Amino acid sequence: MHYFARVLTIAAALFSGALHAVVVVATIPPLGMISDALLAGGLGSTNLLVDGKQSPHGMSLLPSQRAALEKADLVLWVGSDFETWLVASITPLRKTAIAMADTEGVQFLPATALQQAKARQVDHEHVHVAWDMHLWLDPTVMQAYVENVRDALIIQDPQHTAQYQQNAMTLLAEIQRADVEAQALLVTAKQTPLLVMHDAWRYYFRHYGLTQGGMVQRTPEQSIGAGSVALLEQSLRQGMFKCVLREPQIEAKSLQWVKAVAPNLQEALTDPLGHPSYAGGYPAWLLDQAKAINSCTKNQ
Ligand SMILES: [Zn+2]
Repeated sequence: MHYFARVLTIAAALFSGALHAVVVVATIPPLGMISDALLAGGLGSTNLLVDGKQSPHGMSLLPSQRAALEKADLVLWVGSDFETWLVASITPLRKTAIAMADTEGVQFLPATALQQAKARQVDHEHVHVAWDMHLWLDPTVMQAYVENVRDALIIQDPQHTAQYQQNAMTLLAEIQRADVEAQALLVTAKQTPLLVMHDAWRYYFRHYGLTQGGMVQRTPEQSIGAGSVALLEQSLRQGMFKCVLREPQIEAKSLQWVKAVAPNLQEALTDPLGHPSYAGGYPAWLLDQAKAINSCTKNQ
């Protein structure tokens, strides 16, 4: 009993200390990484909603995640065209939510047929998805977003303005460095069309001048059609692709037929969503993707 009493006292002390700290809920790992970096130095804590198992394209909130949302001072998300499953939960809570999609100056790419089909499958009432929402894969969009999040944090917690400004400056400089390094690493990869598992990479490819030559995953409705599958198979047989960008969230078996047709295809161990347990931070994660693509394409 004494032990439990002590633990409770400690918990109570921690809790009262945490009362002044900012609580952020972030939907996906890259937004969580940004939040962690801006809150560095004990300014607050980040709760991540995506757990690494569920697809962010179609989630349902657990009671614990709802509770986290209720406690949040700030919600970081991509936007209503992406986390369609979140809209109904945050609207009645009237939370301050910062959407990446609201970042000024974003040059949106229109949604692909696959993205539209997926949205229809996930949420029948929210059928219209106009834009490709994988915005976190463009470091310039992320940099502008970081500034918005910094400003929102300062409004929430003006006492620590200088610290937020310092954290944001450090983070923005690190993203800049990682971006320059990634540019240099991806020079070779520009010369070869890349095969992707799902159409997550278009902003990254646009930013770094890479080419998406094909996509493995078919739509739930097969709307890219048997013709395109045959076309992909033909390209694979002809050796058009040297490298496929793996995704931990997509089962390896979707690659089986591809590997059977093109046994020499190299695999880049990429992760366009990031994993909740990844501790390196956004700049390192950004660079990891470039390193994986570089090592997949250079030894050919
Ligand atoms: Zn995606």
